[in-house]
This record gives sequence, structure tokens and C-alpha cells, in this order.
Amino acid sequence: MIKLTNISKSFGKHEVLHRINLTVEKGEVVVILGPSGSGKTTLLRCINYLEKPNEGQIEIGDFNLDYKQANKKDIHNLRQRSAMVFQHYNLFKHKTVLENVMEGLIIVQKFSADAAKQKSIEMLEKVGLGAKLDAYPSQLSGGQQQRVGIARALALNPEVILFDEPTSALDPELVGEVLDVIRKIAKEGITMIVVTHEMGFARDVSNHVVFMDEGIIVEEGRPQDIFGAPKEERTKQFLKRIT
Ligand code: ADP
Repeated sequence: MIKLTNISKSFGKHEVLHRINLTVEKGEVVVILGPSGSGKTTLLRCINYLEKPNEGQIEIGDFNLDYKQANKKDIHNLRQRSAMVFQHYNLFKHKTVLENVMEGLIIVQKFSADAAKQKSIEMLEKVGLGAKLDAYPSQLSGGQQQRVGIARALALNPEVILFDEPTSALDPELVGEVLDVIRKIAKEGITMIVVTHEMGFARDVSNHVVFMDEGIIVEEGRPQDIFGAPKEERTKQFLKRIT
């Protein structure tokens, strides 16, 4: 359902992604692993057009786009199909939890205020924050703020949710609650691409692991194969260091 073809991205002279090809099936939970600086976040941001690749194509469902020729309508279309959960949550500080989730529904998806409110409450209940609707982000723990970020992404009903290191800014004792919410929505069959350093989570929850290094996909496969019997030397070295 998602197909990336020959995605390349440079910042100045520095080529960060080199002709990436990746296919993601509907309902898959894809985990992207790799050393810092290998291009994982940039790849995720390209899917959502937060970065514009220098070259490449993307297909999501029945929509496809050549990045070189994308116009405003295409970009809007792409963003309707994907939602991002950020490392630092990116919530509006002066809006309540409920308003944070409603915002995208009203502005981007043109929901009425009532419909947006109803949908937002439903999503916040799903992530366990039904009692915090009127709180402001500063009154919440990091784990709760990230759960708002997840509710906001879910509310948009995207074809894929992109998670950019969703637990790496959290204190260790708050990581579990966020991973539990991601696990729960993964079970509902929502397609996800997750950049993470949480190896336990990658093993348990994903069904497709991608290992990147220096802007290329070095190896990909099922978690049991990548963790149990990696083929490439670079993957072996990385896993040895991190696990
Ligand atoms: P990872 O997520 O694997 O840690 P990133 O995608 O964040 O890697 O970064 C890959 C490389 O691209 C790094 O060398 C980083 O410094 C560089 N990079 C990322 N974003 C920018 C940017 N906006 N401008 C310049 N260089 C960038």
C-alpha cells in the first residue's frame, strides 16, 4: 500500500538518502533501525513531505506522486494520507488537550466543531486521556503529552502513522505507557512506520524491520530474521552494540 521508489535527498553536498526503495503492506508495523545520522528521520519526513526529496516517487494507496513535480494539491493530498508523531510531541502550548486534537480535524479536514469534538474525545479515550480533555500540555507528563500526539495522529484517520522516535525524549519510567498505546493501535491493524531505538518493542510489535546505514537500506526482513540471523556485517555490528 506504500511504495517508495528511488528516494534521494541531499542537504547541500551531503547526500543523506541514496535511492531508497521500500514497500510497506497494509497493516504492517515497520520499524526502522540504524545508527544516528543514517537518514531514518529524514526518510520518515519525506513520506509526509516535511522534507522534499531531490528525486523519487511515492505511492500511498491509490495516490502517487513524483516529488520533482509535486504541486500544492499533491502535497495536501499526501499529508491527508499520513500523520506524524514527533519526538518532542509538537503540541500547541496554549491549547487544551482536546483543542490540540480538534485542530487538524477542523483546519485540514474541515470537520464541524461538534464532529471534531466528538472524534477527538473518542481518540483521547482510546489513549487513556479521557479525564484530561481540558488540561494544558504543561500540566501533563511527557508520556501523557506523547499520547495526545498519538490521539491527534489517529483522529486524522490516515492511511499510515509515522512515528519519529516517539519515546526518546521521555524519562525511562514513562516509555512503557507510550509503547503500550502504540502496541494497542498496532493490533487494530493501522499501518505504521516507526523509527525507534526500542529493540524490545521492535522485536515484539513489528512485522517488518528495516536496517539503514549511511543513507541506504542495508537489510530488511522479518524481525525474527533480522534479530536472529542478520546477513549483513553492518547489521550484525549494529545489533551487537545496541542489544
Ligand atoms: P537519523 O534519524 O538516522 O539519526 P537523520 O535523518 O536525522 O538521521 O539525519 C541524517 C543526516 O542528515 C545527518 O547527518 C543530519 O545531520 C543531516 N540532516 C538532517 N536534517 C538536516 C537539515 N535540515 N539540514 C542539514 N542537514 C540535515
